[in-house]
Amino acid sequence: MSERIPAQIIETIDPSKPIRLTPSQAGGPIHTRSFTGFYRNLRLYGAGLLFLIFFGTAWLDWDGRQAVLWNLAEHRYYIFGATFWPQDFILLSALLIIAAFGLFTITVVAGRVWCGYTCPQSVWTWVFMWAEKITEGERHQRVKLDAAPWSLNKLLRRSAKHSIWLGVSLLTAVTFIGYFTPIRDVAGDLLRLQLDGGTLVWVLFFMAATYLNAGWLREKVCVHMCPYSRFQSAMFDDDTLLVAYDAKRGEGRGPRKKDSDHKTEGLGDCIDCQVCVQVCPTGIDIRDGLQIDCISCGACIDACDSVMDKMGYARGLVGYHSERQLQGSKTQRMRPRLVGYAIALLLMLAAFVWALNARSMLSIDSAKDRSMFRENQLGQIENTYLLKVINKTQQPQQYALALLDSPGLRLDAPQQLQLNPGEILDVPVTVVLEDQQAKTSAMPVHFAIHNLADSREQAQTRSTFLSPRGR
Ligand code: SF4
Ligand code: SF4
Repeated sequence: MSERIPAQIIETIDPSKPIRLTPSQAGGPIHTRSFTGFYRNLRLYGAGLLFLIFFGTAWLDWDGRQAVLWNLAEHRYYIFGATFWPQDFILLSALLIIAAFGLFTITVVAGRVWCGYTCPQSVWTWVFMWAEKITEGERHQRVKLDAAPWSLNKLLRRSAKHSIWLGVSLLTAVTFIGYFTPIRDVAGDLLRLQLDGGTLVWVLFFMAATYLNAGWLREKVCVHMCPYSRFQSAMFDDDTLLVAYDAKRGEGRGPRKKDSDHKTEGLGDCIDCQVCVQVCPTGIDIRDGLQIDCISCGACIDACDSVMDKMGYARGLVGYHSERQLQGSKTQRMRPRLVGYAIALLLMLAAFVWALNARSMLSIDSAKDRSMFRENQLGQIENTYLLKVINKTQQPQQYALALLDSPGLRLDAPQQLQLNPGEILDVPVTVVLEDQQAKTSAMPVHFAIHNLADSREQAQTRSTFLSPRGR
C-alpha cells in the first residue's frame, strides 16, 4: 500500500476571468471618476453651506466685537449675544455629550452618513479632489499624468494643484485660529507679514494638518485613524439604512447588449461596468458587501443609478437599503432602540436648554485675608475678605452687596457696585463682629449680591468669620 496521500489540483479562481483589484486593494492613489446625481448634489450644497458657515461666521460682528470668539486671553467665549465663562464649561461638556448622542442616533437611522456628508475630513477632501480635477483633468487624464515622466505640462499642472491645496489650507488655518484670536488681527498681521511667532506656528500647524489630511491621507484617515469607523457598526441593526448592493437583483453580473433580454441569459441587473468602483473615494467595491471603508457618501448610488437609467432598468440596484429590506421584508422605521435614543436625546436637549436659561449671569467668590482677625479702634473684632464679582452680561450693571443670614455681623463695604460688560471686579471688604457675646471662634458668613435692575439675578458665596474664642 502506498504511503503517499493522493493530491488533487483544485482551481479556486476562474482562469477565464481576469482578477480585478479594487483601487483600495491595489494601493496607490485613488483617482475617482466624475459623476452627477441626487446624492452628489446633496453633498455639494451641504458642503457649500458648511463652508460658508465655517469661513463666514468668523467675520461676523455683534455689538462691536467678533460674534463668535473663544477669547483665550480673557478666558471667555462669545457666541453672538451670549458670553460663556470657565464656570460654564460644564455646559460645553454637556453639549459635546449631546452631539455625540445625536451622532449615535443618526448612525442607528442611516449608518455612517455623518462621514460621507458633513465630516470635515470628507468635506475638505471633496474640495481637494475638485482642485485635482480642474488642474489635472478627469480620472483617465490623472492616471496618465501619474504614469508620465516629468515634463513642463506635468510640472505646471502639479504646481497649480498644490497651490490651490496650500491656499485652501492657509485659509482654513487662519479661519480656525480666527475663532480663538480676533480674525481681523490675524489676517491683517498675515497680510503685513507681521504674525507673531506663536500665531505663526499655529497657522503652519493647521495648514499642514489640512494639506496632509485632505490632500494626501484622505480615505486612510477614515479607514485607519478615525475611532468612529471602528465602533459605528456596533450601532447598526437590521433596519439601519446602509449603502448596499442588492445582490439578489444584481447577480449574476456581466456585460450584455442594451436591449437584450438579460434574464433569459441568466444575468442580473449588474452589467459589471465598474463605474461604482471608479467613483468611490475610498476605492472599494460595494458589491463585496458592507465594509469598514465605506463612508456612506452615496457616490456609488448616483453612479449606478445613471447606469441603470442608460440601460432602462429600475434605479436602486445600489442604494440606501436596510438588511431587512434586502431580505425581502419592509424596513421598520420606528423601533424600540431608535425610540429610546430619540427620547434620551430630547430629554438631554431639554435639560441643556433649561440649564442654559437658568445659568446665572452674575458671579461672586470670596477669599479670606490671610490674617485671622484684628481689633478695630472700637475694640470690635473684624475680618477682611477679597470678593471677586463678575458681570457676565454684555451690558453695564449695578449691583447691591449685603450679608445674608449672618447675625451679629456687619458688612463694611460699598453698598452698590457698578460693573461694565464682562468686567471682573475685586472688592476688598471688612466684616465686623457687633455681637461681642459670640461664643464660637468660627462662624459662617454669607455674602450676597443682586442686580438692582432685576432682583432675581443674584449670587452668593460663603466664607468663615474668625474671632478669639469666648469673647
Ligand atoms: S462604497 Fe459607495 S457609499 Fe461607500 S464610500 Fe464608496 S462610493 Fe461612498
Ligand atoms: S455601477 Fe451598477 S451596474 Fe455598474 S458595476 Fe456597479 S453595481 Fe454593477
